[in-house]
Amino acid sequence: MNQLLLNLAKLSGLRDRHEIDFALVKLILNTSLWRFTSVRLLRAVGSLDAQHWLTLASLTQQQTEPECDHVWLDLSHLPCLSDMPQREAAIVTESVVCSGSGPFTIHFPIDTQASVCSLLEVESDESVSMDTQTRVDSVLRIYENMQSLLDYGEKDTLTELLNRKTFDSAFWRAAQAQESSRDPSMDERRAKIPEGSYWLAVLDIDHFKHVNDNFGHLIGDEVLLLLARHMRSSFRLHDQLYRFGGEEFVVLMRCTSHADAEAALERFRLQIAQHEFPKVKHITISSGFTPLYENDTPSAAFDRADKAVYYAKGHGRNQVCSYTLLVQTGELVAQADAIEEVDFF
Ligand code: GH3
Ligand code: MG
Ligand code: MG
Repeated sequence: MNQLLLNLAKLSGLRDRHEIDFALVKLILNTSLWRFTSVRLLRAVGSLDAQHWLTLASLTQQQTEPECDHVWLDLSHLPCLSDMPQREAAIVTESVVCSGSGPFTIHFPIDTQASVCSLLEVESDESVSMDTQTRVDSVLRIYENMQSLLDYGEKDTLTELLNRKTFDSAFWRAAQAQESSRDPSMDERRAKIPEGSYWLAVLDIDHFKHVNDNFGHLIGDEVLLLLARHMRSSFRLHDQLYRFGGEEFVVLMRCTSHADAEAALERFRLQIAQHEFPKVKHITISSGFTPLYENDTPSAAFDRADKAVYYAKGHGRNQVCSYTLLVQTGELVAQADAIEEVDFF
């Protein structure tokens, strides 16, 4: 018990989600209070009609360090939610599901938030007592509380997208990853992530004041919430989605080319333009995007994408505008501090 408490104390001191997930599976596999052969922490990802199981951390008795699925992978390579009935049953019934007659598999649902389904899957050669199940469940409650605290600091309460406060640190991480991928000595790490570079997009709802004026603020809020859900289903798992405030959203994404970034934004623009929202019916969005430059800063990159949005607003709205193209065609004047040295076409 002492060892478990010590490890829980260590776990609760962590702030990085990936480190917390790894520490959790280590703690549960390595305690002497029970003996599991493997532990796997899973999350349901993807659009609601086609969810897949992403492994956040997994560890077996044969391994020393946990493993996880890479966020860059194609979701269709992951197992479908409906292909794993015991996992699905634990999520649907919100209760512990035991299966098998030796080896045994136990699924513990984890209720981090309404929109996120996670669970812990453990395997054991012996049957697992109720007492052990209760103890594991209690550890998972602590994990849940830690996730809620992180969410509280990092997420916008209405849409559950990331908030503006977390943007700068994500930007610096992306800029550093981009620098490293240009460094020939980083070959080994680079092999794990696909080719590409980071792009920043700003998205702004067109004439949103009319929505509030005509239907009220509550309906306006509902549109923001639904738009965020569309963002989660349209952009890729590794794209980072932010609500910057009001009806302004930001996407930090890794794309293989200018065309790839433009296509992702155009797909989202079309999805929204074609969607029928309750009461309001139709809305459109204007977006602007820019690559991250060498020695870039969060505010400089945001300003460039925002200039492209401003251009879209002045030229008919409901469109995606590229800062790079607007500068090349002379529609916009390049920022004085920007050094664009990469040829994206
Ligand atoms: P444009 O096409 O030029 O972007 O027009 P717009 O009406 O969207 O313009 P603007 O950006 O000036 O207005 C944004 C409006 O968004 C103002 C405010 O009423 C509304 N808004 C900001 N935050 C919220 C919010 O949290 N909820 C709701 N319902 N409305 C918000
Ligand atoms: Mg607007
Ligand atoms: Mg706005």
